Amino acid sequence: MFTGITLALSKGRIFEETLPLLAATGIVPSENPESSRSLIIATNRADVRLLIVRATDVPTYVQYGAADLGIAGKDVLLEHGGAGLYQPLDLDIAHCRMSVAARADFDYSAVRPGGRIRVATKYVKQAKRHFASKGVHIDLIKLYGSMELAPLVGLADVIVDLVSTGGTLRANNLVEVETIEPISSRLIVNQASLKLKHALLQPLLDSFAHSVAARRAS
Ligand code: ATP
Ligand code: MG
Repeated sequence: MFTGITLALSKGRIFEETLPLLAATGIVPSENPESSRSLIIATNRADVRLLIVRATDVPTYVQYGAADLGIAGKDVLLEHGGAGLYQPLDLDIAHCRMSVAARADFDYSAVRPGGRIRVATKYVKQAKRHFASKGVHIDLIKLYGSMELAPLVGLADVIVDLVSTGGTLRANNLVEVETIEPISSRLIVNQASLKLKHALLQPLLDSFAHSVAARRAS
């Protein structure tokens, strides 16, 4: 049985931006998940391995202790709720923002408290919370991806989605009409692992914190 540290993360943006943080700790993955089909990736350290999971599944693996720690976007953590997770550190990576977007011809300024709109999103909790705080009633349509399509084909008036450059919105003739909150990725830790594997975990947490602080200072 593997008795070391298991880190869960998603491939793509988060994996790419995590690599330098791992390298600063002396950890180098032995395979690239973009080209490999392996879901368990060994590293140069026999006591550290990576699990490659869907971004939304990272908190679940850590919550149940299948992974000791993980890296997940604040968007994912807000939807998950964070139960059973210790969140010691904002890694300051994978920056974007959660926003409301609509077709250019949709008059979002006419949406007033007491009004009603149709919202398509995979961020159900965040969308409910945001529009409730504005006093706007919503018909919520849960999607799992390609949210940009919904306003174009009349499925929804607006979407709640992540935006970084705005390129995807522009390519689909959508405009960002309101920013909900800034998003970055955080380190999450299983609460039992933190106690039981403290000697292995703490140096890793310290090293991540040090790298993040050093990068902020530079
Ligand atoms: P898929 O795109 O395969 O359906 P996904 O949407 O769950 O999966 P990604 O698009 O790779 O996964 O996003 C993973 C995480 O990266 C998100 O949870 C978010 O925190 C962050 N992220 C998403 N989009 C952006 C973006 N445009 N810029 C920066 N970070 C982003
Ligand atoms: Mg995506």
